[in-house]
Amino acid sequence: MAFVSVLFPLAVDQTFTYYIEGFDGNDIGKRVLAPFGKNNRQKIGIAIGTASEIDNYKEAAILDKSPVLNKTLIDLLEFLHSYYGSGIGMAVKGMLPKRLFEIKEQICIEEHDFCYHKQSENLLSTEEQYYIINSIKDDIAKRFSSNLIMGVTGSGKTEIYLQLIEHAVEAGYGAIVLVPEITLTPQLEERFVSRFGDIISVFHSRLTPLQKFNRWLNVRTGRAPIVLGARSAIFVPAKTGIIVVDEEQDSSYKQSDMMPHYNGRDIAILRAKMEKIPVVLGSATPSVSTYYNAKTGKFRFFKIEKRVKETPLPKIYLADLNNCRTGIISEKLLAALEQKSQSLILVNRRGFAKNAVCLDCDSLIECPNCSVTLCYHKKDGQLKCHWCGYKQKIDTGCRKCGSSNLKFIGTGTEKVEAYIKEVLPDKVIERFDSDNTKKKGSYQKILNRLRDGEIDIIIGTQMLAKGHDYPGIMLSAILSYESLLAGADYLSSENAIQLALQVSGRAGRMSQGKSIIQTYNIHNPDFIDIIRHDYVSFCEKELVIRKKHLYPPFSHLIRMISVNPKQIEGKRDMQYIASWLSDRNIEFLGPSECLISKIRNKFRFHLIIKTNNVKSSVCFLRNLVENKKFDSRIIIDVDAIDFF
Ligand code: ADP
Ligand code: ZN
Ligand code: ZN
Repeated sequence: MAFVSVLFPLAVDQTFTYYIEGFDGNDIGKRVLAPFGKNNRQKIGIAIGTASEIDNYKEAAILDKSPVLNKTLIDLLEFLHSYYGSGIGMAVKGMLPKRLFEIKEQICIEEHDFCYHKQSENLLSTEEQYYIINSIKDDIAKRFSSNLIMGVTGSGKTEIYLQLIEHAVEAGYGAIVLVPEITLTPQLEERFVSRFGDIISVFHSRLTPLQKFNRWLNVRTGRAPIVLGARSAIFVPAKTGIIVVDEEQDSSYKQSDMMPHYNGRDIAILRAKMEKIPVVLGSATPSVSTYYNAKTGKFRFFKIEKRVKETPLPKIYLADLNNCRTGIISEKLLAALEQKSQSLILVNRRGFAKNAVCLDCDSLIECPNCSVTLCYHKKDGQLKCHWCGYKQKIDTGCRKCGSSNLKFIGTGTEKVEAYIKEVLPDKVIERFDSDNTKKKGSYQKILNRLRDGEIDIIIGTQMLAKGHDYPGIMLSAILSYESLLAGADYLSSENAIQLALQVSGRAGRMSQGKSIIQTYNIHNPDFIDIIRHDYVSFCEKELVIRKKHLYPPFSHLIRMISVNPKQIEGKRDMQYIASWLSDRNIEFLGPSECLISKIRNKFRFHLIIKTNNVKSSVCFLRNLVENKKFDSRIIIDVDAIDFF
């Protein structure tokens, strides 16, 4: 008998059983048309396996000749469910283009061979490139290996990816290349297209549903099997010989704002394991966890120490903001900005978060219970830790020296732009942030003007740090290092140093550039590493701290959030979860109000669990949430990286 489990793209965590005449193993992963709900409306679902017989069954019909999900993707669905705690309905919805669930006719999925005509010659490899390519290429389409290439920007990583992918293509396989934000790196896309021509499929968030569907189809049929895209591209049904994750530390790989809460980088590693192919992670500043995996031999570790063109890394200088009259631009930075070449200024990424600095002892005000800085909440005049819920009144002053001489830091892009226009009226100044790049094509317009030398000073958020080569930029600056620490969580030092090194790398691609970091805390020990471009030294120190506090990579963090329009109910539900965990001796931080305690009129409370066994934790947390029927919506965010 052919009873089949069918999955619908709905916010329900279950499959539905139907009878499908003549169903067999080859039909797994195909779309089906099935009567659904009270009115038996025809709805599109996916057949994901056989089921046991039920009474009162309904009949469904297979729609297509070929499946839309292969075995790997069905296994990944299960992983999104068991590891990330996603409902499987939402997981399948996130995995496939929307149109597949709208077109009720058969879709022609004929598999093609792709035609690859070499578009341009490879560059002659450097010794390092040759060694790395040789070490990885025999794994292509054959066996799993995880590889980290740690090399500064300009050290030739992309050329390595291109050549490895060429080996895959020549063996008849495609590839998936994940990049943080393809819209910000058009040069990268150009490089791939100029090497591989039209067998590239580019995926990004600005595609229309139809474009997304057509590109998905081109990958599925094998016409364009090299996939270049943001995190969700890891779910395309490409026949992959290799997977690449560039800038593997980038936070955009983590989907935190909607279900499923997966990390594309981690899914990439898992997918490579399932498909028995190599995965290559690349970065100048890998995440501390990835560095740890490489150092301990879990990943193969390749380092490239110098740039291909041997341009020395920029010299990094610090500028003390404590004696700066305006608190915005120091004299050192002003003098540098007056020079003729182009400059780039990074302004803090999260305008809402402000830290308090003690002007008497030069320290950031930290939480007594956690190794994190407190955040200034202007509304109630308090400094708070959103990890453990600790708070203190502003007038309590500095916890180290008792001084009440505190300063709150955090300056938006607009304020900076206005200020620089005033002090440097002859310069052409442009702002680059999500506010003024919303319109289609506006990114590109600004970046083209920058490339053509029409802009003297560009001021932007971290979006700017991710862009690629702008050879005219000789000076890069960070307005306030402390503002980069605004996340106030265990990742804040890591993210700040990564961003600082990334920004400094924007300067001086042709000849040695200069980078200025302004700070209120010139004695921050991380600056020693930053000035030496010694990221490894930072990682080593950071690992000691992480180990002591059992933060990743020495544990996994699962964040539970309650979201409720009624503050009291949200708080009560989170307290219930907290006491339930305490009763079972499970370690957690919190519960507390989220840093942004209200979003869209819903109140948010959270707590953070440290665990070594994610799947079993997720399993009992899901059971708790399902059985208790909370008034609040409860979010489970596994391997959380956002804590606001
Ligand atoms: P990364 O990805 O590490 O930033 P790229 O691969 O983009 O490095 O290389 C930096 C620059 O050096 C690019 O302009 C690239 O074309 C050039 N390049 C890379 N490898 C070679 C090589 N083997 N010979 C000559 N130029 C190279
Ligand atoms: Zn003090
Ligand atoms: Zn704390």
